[in-house]
Amino acid sequence: MYTIVNVSPKIQALIDSTQYLDSLPKYSSVGCYPYFYIDADNNVLCADCASKNDEFDQPLTDYAANWEDSELYCDHCSQRIESAYADDDLDSITDDTEDNEDDLDLG
Ligand SMILES: [Zn+2]
Repeated sequence: MYTIVNVSPKIQALIDSTQYLDSLPKYSSVGCYPYFYIDADNNVLCADCASKNDEFDQPLTDYAANWEDSELYCDHCSQRIESAYADDDLDSITDDTEDNEDDLDLG
């Protein structure tokens, strides 16, 4: 169990829901969407840096899924933060919606 000081209730709720992890989650548990984190100075942090937030002065205030910003970078380590839909190399984003075509003719 990792310890992060200076977090908002929203972040604390996320930590509480992911106690099995060694750090803040990089992806949402549902859908596997990439997460990024925001501190009180509105810096964007990757999960790795956010997990080391107690080295910083600024508290974490928020997190969100990066849907389609392919130019989102961590302000601390400059690592690009993955986006759910904008990454070209993720060419096979699957979802669970099935075709509801009623083409089967059982007659
Ligand atoms: Zn980082």
